[in-house]
Amino acid sequence: MSVSSCIRLFVVLGMLPTVGGFAAESTRSKGIQTLLAALNLDRPGLEKVKAAQNDPAAAARELLAYYRARTSVKHPADRARSADVRGKFADKRCLEIADDAVKNILITCPHYPRFDFGPDIDWFTNRNPKRDKEWLWQLHRQSSWGALGRAYRHTGDEKYARAYVRQLLDWLKKCPCRKGSPAWRTIEAGIRGFSWTTHFQYFLDSPAFTPEVLTAFLNGCREHAVYLTSRKFSRNNWGLMEAEGAAFIGFTFPEFKEAAAWRAKAIKHLNAEIRKQVRADGMQVEQCLGYHSGCIHWFARTAEIAKLNGGENEFPPEYFRRLEAMCAVFLKLGLPDGGNTQFGDDHSQFHWRRVLERWAPVFNRGDFLYVATGGKKSTPPKETAFALKDSGFYSMRSGWDENAVCLVLKCGPNGGWHCQPDNGTFEIFAGGRRLTPDSGSYIYSGDAAGRAWFRRTRVHQTMTLDGKDIAYRPKLRLWKPGGDLDVLVVENQSYPHFTHRRTVLFVKKKYFVVVDEALGTAKGAAMLHFQLAPGDAILDKKRFRAHTAFKDGTNLLVQTVARPGLKLVKEEGRVSFEYGKWKPRPAFRFELKKAAVPLRFITVLVPYTGEVPTVRVETVGSPPPGAEQMKLDATVSGETTRIGWALPAGKP
Ligand code: CA
Repeated sequence: MSVSSCIRLFVVLGMLPTVGGFAAESTRSKGIQTLLAALNLDRPGLEKVKAAQNDPAAAARELLAYYRARTSVKHPADRARSADVRGKFADKRCLEIADDAVKNILITCPHYPRFDFGPDIDWFTNRNPKRDKEWLWQLHRQSSWGALGRAYRHTGDEKYARAYVRQLLDWLKKCPCRKGSPAWRTIEAGIRGFSWTTHFQYFLDSPAFTPEVLTAFLNGCREHAVYLTSRKFSRNNWGLMEAEGAAFIGFTFPEFKEAAAWRAKAIKHLNAEIRKQVRADGMQVEQCLGYHSGCIHWFARTAEIAKLNGGENEFPPEYFRRLEAMCAVFLKLGLPDGGNTQFGDDHSQFHWRRVLERWAPVFNRGDFLYVATGGKKSTPPKETAFALKDSGFYSMRSGWDENAVCLVLKCGPNGGWHCQPDNGTFEIFAGGRRLTPDSGSYIYSGDAAGRAWFRRTRVHQTMTLDGKDIAYRPKLRLWKPGGDLDVLVVENQSYPHFTHRRTVLFVKKKYFVVVDEALGTAKGAAMLHFQLAPGDAILDKKRFRAHTAFKDGTNLLVQTVARPGLKLVKEEGRVSFEYGKWKPRPAFRFELKKAAVPLRFITVLVPYTGEVPTVRVETVGSPPPGAEQMKLDATVSGETTRIGWALPAGKP
């Protein structure tokens, strides 16, 4: 077709409003008929809709009247509360997001700036400079619509409702459900299934939410529920969101003939997965605290809406015991100031204290409340050291104040895509500072080389052979917390014929002695990697020590016992505290080239203020690497402490 004929066609269409209007009417009619066929019109309350079913426009009007009058279905975002929360429902940032959304400036992936899509939104173009696919995928989470809803409930300003309705209809028109569409990744479909039912609570009473909008919205909801339940739910955190989306549509719209089946499939999945995805120690199998936190929500919210609607027996007490164990993970592994370690794909900080505070009264856990409030309420936990033996996370701390000394170590099974081959790695926190933050994960897609850099074993605080990635073959050998000495001994068979045994001793709740042994017969360079907090650092190659150089507050000294052939080698250091961003930081390794395994490094890590402490460590006698018991004399700033441990008898 030529350009001129194209123009003529547009003119012709433009001159035939009656025909166009008829077509739109026909589409609307088809939409309501599709919807009515999917609803159980014999359900009490739908009598008028049923009576009007041969008059599509009237039926849609009656259906809207039904939903506005309906009180039988409860939702956590209950619209009955709208008047109570006017002026108290959106903060400044939320209103900014909503005001942007009115102008088609939308959240894509929330880690990137909001993007101005102009008057006609192209829902399929990736405009991210890094070509990060998450940018486009996560646009379809429609995060800005939640802000529109909150702003509408906060202000009552119809501009927010009009913007929502306009974008909803545009999205429904331009983003049909089809396999492989960037708009229909199952995780986003699940997230929408949940969020759309919330939007419904926000916007149902707006004049902008017309019978036609209701019809399109409900057909869209059904499409989501059918799409999500017509396949097996994924076996990771995605599956929880997929199930949640289907469940929320099923609970919010029981008028659909298939609603009970959607709910049943989702509830069955959640009940099964809390046993499969949550280990006995409470940690979610993907080994990331951020996803762990998300999983708490995804498991809990469906149980909550079920309870609101008479389905409390759908989730047995064991389900809630697992949820409680999941919450307790934050108490055990959270950093003293409410921050978190960043193992695996924990790409940033999240607010786990809020989760503990929310669940403290539900589980009657004063210790949750204490940790959640930074010690302002209730009483502290009895212990200061915790082992999650199934997932391989361990923590030791000097106390519960925000300046406490704390170490969190990971040596666990492979948690899949979000997990990194980092067994043995740890973070040290002291004086309000993360002194050895994990490198983080930086990005998920778009910069494959960048993601790979952060994933490698050798950018973690552990031992490698020739800097190569390790396997996940963890084993706990000893866990013995105690007053003046916490002892942890873990092993990882990192390579064929090369087992890394790491012994961590927390001495007098002040400093750490780490004994690293390479056991086996492998040949190569044994490398012990360390990474420090961003900022200046002093690397002292002669004394085999390095320390941070903060002018104020707490620093960290890392010093290894000298031995023939030992070298301190500077490494490239990077750390990512925010998705998509990284900064340089000091890093180094202690190296023994052409090392004869078995061998041993002994390192002291001392958080300190003021002058760099003097450190000396000597073994008592000459226990060979791999010895089942050892004694050491550790001297820090002139104070000598004898420390020792013995592995349990029997075959390792
Ligand atoms: Ca890492």
